[in-house]
Amino acid sequence: MNRIATIITIDGPAGSGKTSVAEAVAHELRWVFLNTGAMYRAATIAVLDAGVRMEPLDVPAAIAAVRASGLRLDDRGVVHLRAGDVAARLMSDDVSRHVSPVSQIPEVRAMLTPMQREFGVRARPGVVAEGRDMATVVFPDALHRFYLDAKLEERARRHLHRMTKKGMAAPTLDDAIRDIALRDHKDSTRAVAPLKRAEGVCELDTTVWTLDATVAHILEHVRAEDSP
Ligand code: C5P
Repeated sequence: MNRIATIITIDGPAGSGKTSVAEAVAHELRWVFLNTGAMYRAATIAVLDAGVRMEPLDVPAAIAAVRASGLRLDDRGVVHLRAGDVAARLMSDDVSRHVSPVSQIPEVRAMLTPMQREFGVRARPGVVAEGRDMATVVFPDALHRFYLDAKLEERARRHLHRMTKKGMAAPTLDDAIRDIALRDHKDSTRAVAPLKRAEGVCELDTTVWTLDATVAHILEHVRAEDSP
């Protein structure tokens, strides 16, 4: 397979550090950062705001709400809904709790996956894309593919840290552990595009790694793949 050298994929479970790492790698390389989790979170906001029944999820109504939402990416990879700015709400507890059921709907993935591909293939000089199915489904032909993981408790701590840093109300550590374990279970057992390691990806356990060390390791790996 002819692999695309301008695409770096970073997959992994919640709190594995993907977002901070991908953002920092993109910054170092002056590449564009694509946070596909933010797209599924924005889709979930559209569903919540449309007043769709969430438990159990009214799937046809959820699909209609995402279709009507005007969800799109701008040139910088930032997600928008027609209804207005969603940035402040993306990481809220309510959205985190409902995002897995929304993102397992095949019709929702069928709307978002082509947007991600189109964005990634056009991005110059390159794109760092993070999510759950970047290497398996969206960019299987990317040259640089990583899978980040870390112990559950550490991932829950990072999630809380992120929320606190954004000034959001954070749950207790026990609640965060429970919510993240549940979300990982749903994300990795769903029928369409489940979270899993693609064959041949570079796996990193970041439990005891600093952000800087992880970023440095990824950059080194990318450079080695660029000039084998
Ligand atoms: O990465 P983040 O935790 O923000 O992702 C939120 C949720 O979006 C995940 O738990 C998952 O349900 C969904 N997601 C997905 N596919 C992606 C990225 C995120 O299904 N590529």
